[in-house]
Amino acid sequence: MLKSCHCCGLIHQVPSLSHDERAQCTRCDSVIDQPKNRNRSQARTAAAAVAAMALFPAAVLLPILEVEQLGHHHQSGILGGIVELYKTGSILVATVILLFSIVFPLLKILALVELSWLCLMRQRHRTWTYRLMEQIGKWSMMDVMLLALLVMLIKLSGIVQFHFGPALIAFVLCVSMSMISAICFDPHAIWETP
Ligand SMILES: [Zn+2]
Repeated sequence: MLKSCHCCGLIHQVPSLSHDERAQCTRCDSVIDQPKNRNRSQARTAAAAVAAMALFPAAVLLPILEVEQLGHHHQSGILGGIVELYKTGSILVATVILLFSIVFPLLKILALVELSWLCLMRQRHRTWTYRLMEQIGKWSMMDVMLLALLVMLIKLSGIVQFHFGPALIAFVLCVSMSMISAICFDPHAIWETP
């Protein structure tokens, strides 16, 4: 198979390698192909993506904020909060939170699980999945920023006392796991696995 060096661009004829071998560039010594590393990155991506998926229900359903307002105690999860926002008529805010804290992260996690582990789709469709994941990934830090904004608003209002519920830990872990998974993913693997 012909492969170009990702560092200097020199093209090499690379034979199929066994598990312990690796191919190096003859010009700049960069590693061009190493089956061991490829398998390892695939396994890491899958592990982190599955961990993110396992944490997701806890992040969405458990209470994330416990609010004390005028002696009134109130707990709310992300999903419950969105439903409440819809009920009170804040449709725009509810939709934004729904998209950034549930729909986009879930799509990203599902895409990673499919790419690294399930491999149900054809190669070409998996390339689309990869592009979709890249696009969604750009927005994935938004949820953390939204949370920060929410906290700031509550602090500014000053009349409510609040502390964070267990869902916050699950949420932060879930976002971190999906980020780690995306970093470990090697897109070449889409074309190299049969
Ligand atoms: Zn090179």
